[in-house]
Amino acid sequence: GNPVCECNMCYGGSDCSELLPDCMVDADSGDPTFLEPFWMKNAASSAVVVAGWHRMSYEYSDGSLISEELKAHIQKVHASVGNAITDGKYIIFGAGATHLINAAVHALSSNNASSSPAKVVASIPYYPVYKEQTEFFNSEDYKFNEDASMWKNYSSNSTFIELVTSPNNPDGDMKKAVLQGQFVKTIHDLAYYWPHFTPITAPADEDLMIFTLSKLTGHAGSRFGWAIIKDEAVYKRMLTYMDLSTYGVSRETQLRVLKLLKVALSGNGRAMYEFGYSTMKNRWTKLSKVLSQSKRFSTQNLKPRYCSFSQQFRTPSPAFAWLKCETSVLEDRSCYEVLKEVNITGREGSLFSADKHYVRLSLVRSEDDFDLLLRQIKKLVSVESNDK
Ligand code: PMP
Repeated sequence: GNPVCECNMCYGGSDCSELLPDCMVDADSGDPTFLEPFWMKNAASSAVVVAGWHRMSYEYSDGSLISEELKAHIQKVHASVGNAITDGKYIIFGAGATHLINAAVHALSSNNASSSPAKVVASIPYYPVYKEQTEFFNSEDYKFNEDASMWKNYSSNSTFIELVTSPNNPDGDMKKAVLQGQFVKTIHDLAYYWPHFTPITAPADEDLMIFTLSKLTGHAGSRFGWAIIKDEAVYKRMLTYMDLSTYGVSRETQLRVLKLLKVALSGNGRAMYEFGYSTMKNRWTKLSKVLSQSKRFSTQNLKPRYCSFSQQFRTPSPAFAWLKCETSVLEDRSCYEVLKEVNITGREGSLFSADKHYVRLSLVRSEDDFDLLLRQIKKLVSVESNDK
């Protein structure tokens, strides 16, 4: 029979080809389906078949919970992109970066010399899960203490754990740690430090770095991430966390990730990044061109930098537009509400602890989603030129 057609919300008809006039454009979630066409093109080489008897055990034959072959492929991926140094470091797997973030917060706080809980901070605007997760686990070892910048000139011997997201979600900024000193520990969330989104300026060499498959290959549903750790004691505490929370990442997931990374590394090892970058660059160019004609709406300004991976100067091609509404357009609404009125659902700036002038628009969704978003933004901006 015919495959069941699941239309995008903005399309109807028997083959999903009819554009509906008043549909809501979803620019909310960061589901990275922009990479789906690449995997469709590479469907056979990326497929996995698992026989019923395969990998039934708790452990691999060496007694560990992680595939050494997968670990070696992750190291190869970093070496080929040049975005992180893995030599002499420990690697641990988790069910997505989400799992690893808390494992890292746990590991950096559990051996805390001071009696008060470690202060977990991030600079605004920051990825909301840091706060939500830290508060959810409600530990005696750590507390979420909001904006890192507030603590800049604070001197005490309490431990800080700063989450540094670079490029940043939501605004693509190449964030650096705000706090420094002997009591400050940092977790570098480098989820977006890939050629799809940003020039690769130098291999990252931080104490604790977190990456995720979600933003590298787009397989967010596989729930796979990894951390690269310098310090052995921190590594061991993260390992204990993984042992006790899930006893490692599903062996099927590890198998699938291995297959995907083999495709990413195949040929000259650039095809996936070329696809990712050209897709994201195209979107950013189109969107920023439209918005450059507006006096009411603007997005973040991103400067070109030399990319060692592509050996060219590149302007970042961010995963999200961090859209600003000027005060004149807000009246008593938030920027999120202004966009909602023209059928665009973004994510409210307040979720990232920013003010009501901001809304995040996802650019990593499917081509249809992006085209619809662009169409609505064009309408919004053309109203303005008619007003003149
Ligand atoms: N960190 C950042 C900055 C993210 O944007 C995301 C995903 N939106 C994550 C972590 C979580 O990734 P994962 O799917 O691996 O849990």
